[in-house]
Amino acid sequence: MASEVKKQLGDNIFLTTLDAAASWARSNSLWPMPFATACCGIELMSTAASRHDLSRFGSEVMRFSPRQCDLMIVAGRVAMKMLPVLQRIWLQMPEPKWCISMGACACSGGVFDTYAVVQGIDRFMPVDVYIPGCPPRPEQLIKAIVDLQEMIKAGGTYDAREFALRDTAEGPARFDEDELIRIRERNGLKLESPKYDPVH
Ligand code: SF4
Repeated sequence: MASEVKKQLGDNIFLTTLDAAASWARSNSLWPMPFATACCGIELMSTAASRHDLSRFGSEVMRFSPRQCDLMIVAGRVAMKMLPVLQRIWLQMPEPKWCISMGACACSGGVFDTYAVVQGIDRFMPVDVYIPGCPPRPEQLIKAIVDLQEMIKAGGTYDAREFALRDTAEGPARFDEDELIRIRERNGLKLESPKYDPVH
């Protein structure tokens, strides 16, 4: 009987776990939400173009609707005034979701060591992969996505191990609106309190 089954099926069957299959499918169908604010955004665009062809890795379906995305790519410097918008988009993306910080500016503020620029987005939202460089090459973004895919495959879709690793399950901490005032005061500036409207 066993030999009959083997004869019929040949090499056309393989066994795996449901969790491994689901994680494999999830890792190869990332839908990025591009948050491109500066020159790094041009590198991001060229990664999706024909020369580098991000679709080879199943991650070219850029969407500007957060509800349809699971991969935030922050490419470029983020001004303090943009931060509430970035946080809101991140919170609107459904779990599970991941974030790539692309370029020196997104990772650390880059050369813009000033109170008006966020000195690293990971101070306000979780980041899974960092890409160094100014600007980073498209190949670096592809490598970051491949690394992220490996991370997702090892994550566990059905037992939700990936959520156990998150220490910010409820989303990023609310932006401290007084921080800008404190930074300005340290620099000897006395200005009006900035107003952050989370809606507009
Ligand atoms: S890291 Fe360099 S290339 Fe990227 S946004 Fe900053 S200044 Fe531009």
